[in-house]
Amino acid sequence: MSKNNKISALSEKDGIIKPEIVSSQVAKHIQAFRKQEVSAAELIEKIILGDRVALSRAITLIESTNPIHFEKANEVINGCLPYANQSVRIGITGVPGVGKSTFIEAFGTHLTSIGKKVAVLAVDPSSTLSHGSILGDKTRMEELVKDELAFIRPSASGESLGGVARKTREAIILCEACGFDTIIIETVGVGQSETAVHSMVDFFLLLKISGAGDELQGIKRGIMEMADAVVINKADGDNIQKAKMAQIEFNRALHLFPIKDSDWQPKVTTCSSHTLDGITEVYEIILEYISQTTQSGYFNSNREAQNQYWMMETINEQLKNSFYQHPEIIKELESVKKQVVQHKISPFLGAKHLLELFKK
Ligand code: GDP
Repeated sequence: MSKNNKISALSEKDGIIKPEIVSSQVAKHIQAFRKQEVSAAELIEKIILGDRVALSRAITLIESTNPIHFEKANEVINGCLPYANQSVRIGITGVPGVGKSTFIEAFGTHLTSIGKKVAVLAVDPSSTLSHGSILGDKTRMEELVKDELAFIRPSASGESLGGVARKTREAIILCEACGFDTIIIETVGVGQSETAVHSMVDFFLLLKISGAGDELQGIKRGIMEMADAVVINKADGDNIQKAKMAQIEFNRALHLFPIKDSDWQPKVTTCSSHTLDGITEVYEIILEYISQTTQSGYFNSNREAQNQYWMMETINEQLKNSFYQHPEIIKELESVKKQVVQHKISPFLGAKHLLELFKK
């Protein structure tokens, strides 16, 4: 894949939707469908009927950076909105190598085996920052990708984490309208990506592996505070004992944090994504959380707060974009920056001057 392809919002990364596992008949259908110019109304209709090709296409539309796609994308999102919201949204984070894709493969397969429809999305700002993606550049979730009840989509790319996150937030709506009742959002600890994912999910899961007794080192405190569950993966073979020790240590640490707004006491459990031990227990914890927070009203109030947050975030992002794309700002920005560096004007005066140009 060329570098240009990699950074295009319209490209699909290798290893996620693999052509060889798509039957030739489906491939022909996809090709024919992609060639047609499909209206927003048609896309909405197909998505609601559970058509994944339409879903993929609509997500590509919302990921597009081409302004001519914006209106159609918004139309599709609005059309899907009344059919969204009926799902459980689960965020999963953990450092590279902890076993996220292996876990999601095992966990997702468990969910589809009990009849759930699972969509896996990713927020990977590294696909923007370094033009190399941490989550999408390897063959991942080979079984789940073939599963009729699963839909896997790599991270969007964009100029900022805010942009990537907003596109993922919109993709959630489309996936839900398409009938996916369990949405998994995967991320790695790059920048503020965990915070962004936390603000779009109902349940946030931190995946860990046991170390040499220093389990709590190197974890950003904020991430521990966000976690509704810490799952210690790779609890198999010689690791079982160490994983149990880590479980005790994490449990102790989590009890020291202030009580969450949800009133939920975060749980710590162990699992192996290879032997599948403990995988069903992870889902049971999530079900218990949903039951508790639905009863208390937190589940809904949290979603309402998240919707408001995303509206404000979108305003912030779009204001920022229109500021930097304003012809006067493009013309003046560098020279004002220079004047600030040379102490000819203060940073505040420079900002005031540019903002006035923007408001004109
Ligand atoms: P990611 O970077 O977090 O997505 O991690 P991967 O899912 O790619 O896994 C990294 C490595 O850990 C791979 O070699 C996996 O086979 C291995 N791995 C993942 N889960 C387990 C597990 O439960 N037990 C063991 N023993 N290895 C695992």
